[in-house]
Amino acid sequence: VMVTGASGYIAGWIVKDLLEAGHTVHATVRNPDKAKSVDHLKRLAESAPGTLKLFKADLLDADSFDAPMQGCDILMHTASPFVLDGFTDAHEALVRPAVEGTRNVLNAANRCDTLKRVVLTSSVASVYGDATDMKGKSAFTEADWNSTSSVNHNPYQYSKVAAEREAWKIHDAQGGDAASRWDLVTINPSLVVGPGINPNATSESFDILRQFGDGTAKPGVPDVGIGVVDVREVAEAHLRAAYLPEANGRYILSGHDTDFPEMAAVLRRRFGKKYPIPKRTLPKAAVWLFGPLVNKTLSRKFVSRNVNHPWRADNSRSREQLGIQYRSLEESLNEFFQQLVDSGQFKK
Ligand code: NAP
Repeated sequence: VMVTGASGYIAGWIVKDLLEAGHTVHATVRNPDKAKSVDHLKRLAESAPGTLKLFKADLLDADSFDAPMQGCDILMHTASPFVLDGFTDAHEALVRPAVEGTRNVLNAANRCDTLKRVVLTSSVASVYGDATDMKGKSAFTEADWNSTSSVNHNPYQYSKVAAEREAWKIHDAQGGDAASRWDLVTINPSLVVGPGINPNATSESFDILRQFGDGTAKPGVPDVGIGVVDVREVAEAHLRAAYLPEANGRYILSGHDTDFPEMAAVLRRRFGKKYPIPKRTLPKAAVWLFGPLVNKTLSRKFVSRNVNHPWRADNSRSREQLGIQYRSLEESLNEFFQQLVDSGQFKK
């Protein structure tokens, strides 16, 4: 099994599950010599029945995926930049690596005779852009596609929908006989939380949760509706999508329809005495006025379309076809926050 972006937060659990199931994992990372990216994977491999082989590959290096794909029958493509700010050129930082990277990886898949199935880590960001996209619907489903994001508005979301569309295009364009084609299954998670295998992972998930406890959000949080899912269920879904013959199409992975005030309330119950978990819900008008000054991702357009709007997703395909059972929001958030505490990320 080949796993791209193996150093990542979600990929850590995927690699763990694969090694524990006895698979040989061809793990690609940008820098196999960087201890912080790979040491936790090497440790996992020491005690698991499977075998880990590390390869160097970069999304923007078209030829770097051929060698790791040799002999693999499954490809799990998780690598994609997950950053929400700190860049000046969203196309170069997000869209180009996501889309060109998907193209490079899947062109290599077309050159690989042994490959049978590709599992792509997409996102609910590929299903919707803003909460208002829900319009008259009762919930987002796999039939929905994000058509409201662009390189200027929600560029991360745009990178994900553009990459997933590219993947389906390349999948659909395969020639040859049925036996030589690979099928594509996508996993579309909402905000992923829960303890990481590597507590030093750089995923935006860590930054989002850290802000609930480091004082950044002490004045309050806006009522932004989102979905939340545990990283362990996301990893499990990747394995089911790879090995259940009948798995097909897109799967929304989202355990809970929630919002920032509810997440804060959950964390306050366990951690509120020691850490400055937000207590207030900020009025929309104040977020609209001041949000853009304190947080680049809180543009006025984002605030108008996402604050005080409910968010719901239908997760029935993941439960019924992949057999995913979602753990409670409390368990995921508390264990994740506790990991940040244990790894010294907050000052008391
Ligand atoms: P992460 O820890 O930041 O993982 C992203 C991975 O992508 C890293 O391993 C990174 O490798 C790799 N990557 C980035 N740019 C690359 C490039 N140019 N070439 C090669 N590799 C590159 O984030 P994550 O949360 O696990 O995200 C993994 C996937 O899940 C992404 O596709 C993300 O869009 C998707 N997703 C995440 C969430 C969430 O809430 N976390 C929700 C839905 C979907 P380096 O270590 O070399 O930087």
